[in-house]
Amino acid sequence: SDIKNDFINNMTHEFKTPISTIALATEMAEENALKSGSSARISRYLGIIKDENKRLGTQVEKVLQMALLDKGEVKLQQIHTDIHAVIEKVLGSHHVQIEQKSGEVALALSAENSVLVCDPMHIYNVINNLIDNAIKYSPDKLMLTIRTENQQNGLLVSIVDQGLGMNKEQQHRIFENFYRIPTGNLHDVKGFGLGLSYVQKMIEAHRGNVWVESELGVGSTFHIWLPILDS
Ligand code: ADP
Repeated sequence: SDIKNDFINNMTHEFKTPISTIALATEMAEENALKSGSSARISRYLGIIKDENKRLGTQVEKVLQMALLDKGEVKLQQIHTDIHAVIEKVLGSHHVQIEQKSGEVALALSAENSVLVCDPMHIYNVINNLIDNAIKYSPDKLMLTIRTENQQNGLLVSIVDQGLGMNKEQQHRIFENFYRIPTGNLHDVKGFGLGLSYVQKMIEAHRGNVWVESELGVGSTFHIWLPILDS
């Protein structure tokens, strides 16, 4: 386990440096393109490089954070964060995918107090992973519902889909590292099987809970509960 963690840490570092160099170089190229009046096509290509590099950076950051979490070395930020705003932001970043699946999104953000003290980047990633999965594993029409309510001095967020669903045994295993349900290997559904493991580790690091209710062929609901700490 130590060797694995060292390997992940080193690999991650070896990825992070080139990713930030690419980000800087792309920014400079964009400035240059603007000044010299380059074609719209060049700007579009640069935009793609920037977006994809950002995506790569987020993935690498998640792997690094997981390795650090395993070693108990993650330092969480403690910032007042409005979870409703986080949900809206994540949805905004998925609007193209939602449109592609002729998705319908229903929001029932009923929690009166939606402000938590948490690490905003990680909680964004958690909600992002769950919404991303709901979209990925809804092969036909996407019907996504997101609910919030205050419960037991905390905030409950529920992300409901009517996608593939899963059986009991699968529900028990999906939070394991690298576990993917074999039928999840649909042609267009790619992943590493790390998303939910990250979600569970991060929610537990925030002293919360995550659990799933699901039925094969009917759909899944992922619940996360996070404490509202007085501060
Ligand atoms: P990934 O999506 O990268 O494979 P995750 O850890 O996020 O990894 O999920 C693990 C597995 O759990 C997925 O491969 C998929 O089979 C299953 N899964 C996750 N979310 C859903 C969902 N909303 N509906 C059906 N299956 C899901």
